[in-house]
Order: sequence, then structure tokens, then C-alpha cells
Amino acid sequence: MIQVDQALAIVAANSSKMPVKKIKVAKALGYVLAETIYSPIDMPPFRQSAMDGYAFIHSDLTSLAVVGISQAGDYSNSTLEKNEAIRIYTGAYIPDAADTVVMQEHVTVKGGSITIDKVPPVTINVRNKGEQIEKGAVVLEKNTVISAAAVGFLAGLGIVTVKVYSKPKVGIIVTGNELVAVGKKLPKGKIYESNAVMLAAALKSVGINKPVIFKVKDSLKATAKVIESCLTQFDVILISGGISVGDYDFVKEALVQNGVEELFYKINQKPGKPLFFGKKEDKLVFALPGNPASSLTCFYVYVLAALKKRLGLTNIHLPKMSRKISAAYNNTTGKTLFLKGFYSDHDVRVLESQSSAMLNTFSTANCFITIPNDVTAIAANEEVTIIPFN
Ligand code: AMP
Ligand code: MG
Repeated sequence: MIQVDQALAIVAANSSKMPVKKIKVAKALGYVLAETIYSPIDMPPFRQSAMDGYAFIHSDLTSLAVVGISQAGDYSNSTLEKNEAIRIYTGAYIPDAADTVVMQEHVTVKGGSITIDKVPPVTINVRNKGEQIEKGAVVLEKNTVISAAAVGFLAGLGIVTVKVYSKPKVGIIVTGNELVAVGKKLPKGKIYESNAVMLAAALKSVGINKPVIFKVKDSLKATAKVIESCLTQFDVILISGGISVGDYDFVKEALVQNGVEELFYKINQKPGKPLFFGKKEDKLVFALPGNPASSLTCFYVYVLAALKKRLGLTNIHLPKMSRKISAAYNNTTGKTLFLKGFYSDHDVRVLESQSSAMLNTFSTANCFITIPNDVTAIAANEEVTIIPFN
């Protein structure tokens, strides 16, 4: 059985970037750039006023005749004398002759002229050509996630399309004869299916919004068939349940039948020990334990990293922090623990229920507290590593 760090390294080494595609900037939110973008223009493309006010040639004179007007969107390059000003608005073209804009709140208007009440410093309220970015300069580096601000920045530079890594198509296969879809009546002996919806919700954090969900009974034939079909359609396949050692756990055998290469099976951790990770060509398969808390823990720790790698990100693991633990904790398992915890600015608390079958405290947890397999006891107030996940 491998350790957590080995498993993480295997996931990173075997997850390849998705193919590159061109996409309209307007639809690129959440994608990762597969190219460095250089600015095709100076931004702003001309000297702009940063204020509603008056453009003038900075001097000792405070009484100026208003000889023209420049509204945002207009272009007129009026000439100016030292005792003249142009009425100007935010974003408007500043005539080449002017070097300063006084804001309208600092002038008194009398007929066709103004008196400057408070002479501003020279060049104030002028946005210079190329002040934000010059033509040819780097706009965004390769591997940057495209945020809403980035969409605006790119569009503002007149960029229509960018090259990004495609998003992986994800299929979720849910196994278990005991599972009933929510909304249906719950017969004796059955439980509601919750892993598929939970994993689909968790996928949204990396912008994967439409995984396709398949439900399959605990039968080798049916499981092998659905895996075969998913291998032709999806880049990443998540399988829930059926990966343990029970007589009705058929996932492992079904994967072998389909030629999925095992990269690891079972990790020295709790919860989530029976995680299987495999691949066929560039398709990745995670067979997650059915217990809901195990399933989600494996998703956060391993599946997310694989997805981020496929999406083109370079930082693929959830960031770690440290906090003082509020009470002593003993690890008698010899396994790495991913405890459900709640951290504040000051400390972190281990939540009450740590059962891999239960989501009751996971639902209010905001982090894992990781306890390494070789650490047996932690004293109250000792620093521990936490992995925030919300
Ligand atoms: P398994 O890994 O298939 O042996 O399942 C382990 C435990 O998780 C069993 O108690 C299952 O009933 C439960 N379980 C498996 N799949 C799901 C699911 N999709 N939703 C809720 N519970 C599940
Ligand atoms: Mg099962």
C-alpha cells in the first residue's frame, strides 16, 4: 500500500494537459490560457481625461476662456493658448496641446470662462497613452486562469479569441443496488443516492458544470459495459462505490476487463483507503470508495489535482496552512488522517463525527486537518497542517 505523497505524485505524473483550442474571450471564463497574450494596442490608445473638468496648459494663469469641448468618443485635436481651456469629460481625447485636467469641482464657471480655484499639479488627471499596457507587452501569461477581470482586460484590448486548454469531459458512474434517486419513495433496505450529486457539485469548483451521470447495478457485466462506453466518451471517469473487497464489488474487475491500467489501488490513509487510480491512453479513471465522506475526501485530495493538471493549471494541490489544534489528538491507526475540521483565524478544531460513512460534520467543515501516518500523538495547541476546501 502506498503513502499519500506517493499517490499524489502518481496522480500528477499521469494527468496530461487537455488539447488546446481557440475560444471566444466572451466565453473563456474559468479556462486556462495555453498561450502568453501580448497586447495588440496601446491602452489607453490615446491620452484620456481621468475626470470631468477642463483641459489646459499648466501655468500661473487661473482665468481661462473655454474654447472647445471634448466628450468621450469625440475626436477633435483643438489648438490651445495658455489662457484657454477645453471642456472635457472622463475618457475623452485630450488635445495634444493640453497637459493637465482640472476637475470641474475645482473651478468656478462664469459665462464662457472659468477661474481655477485650486490649481492642480501639472499632468494631473491625464491617463497617458499606453499607461495601462503598451503595444507588445505581456497581457497575461500562459497558464493563467481567465477570471472575469481577465475577460474584461482582453476584450478592452480588442482581443477576440484566445488559446486555452479544453475542459475535460467528466462521466460519473454510480454503483449500488441499494441506491434510490432523491425524490422517489424510499423502500425498506434502500438509501438515497448522494455521491453523484455531491461530486457533480464539487466539480463546479473547477468550472466543470455538466458531468454525465450513469447508474449501474452491482453486476460485473453491467459495470464493465458502462465503463467501456464511458472510456469512449470522457476524459476523466469517476466511479462511486464497488471498489472494496466485498462479494458485490465489481468495479476493479470491470476496469481490468476494459484494459484500464492500474496506477495505484489503496492508499495508507483514512478515510479513502480503497481509492483506485488508473488510466487508459490519456483517459483517467478514479474509482472512489462508496462511503460518502471517503468519496469526497478522495475527490478533494486526488481528483481535483488531476482535473487541475488536465485543465492546464500549474498549482494543482489545495494550498496548505497551519493552525494550532484546539485539543489533543491521538492517531493510533498508522495511517495519514484527513480529519474534518473547522478553522478560524486563531485555531482549528477537530469536528465530532469522523465516520467515513457520514456527511453530517463534513457539511459544516471548512478544512481537512492532516495528521501524517507516522505521528501518533498531537498535544493541544500544537501546530497542525490544514487544507481549507471551501
Ligand atoms: P461500497 O463502496 O459500494 O461498498 O459502499 C460503501 C458504503 O457507501 C455503503 O454503505 C453504501 O451504501 C454507501 N454508498 C455507496 N454509494 C453511495 C452513493 N452513491 N450514495 C450514498 N451512499 C453510497
Ligand atoms: Mg456498493
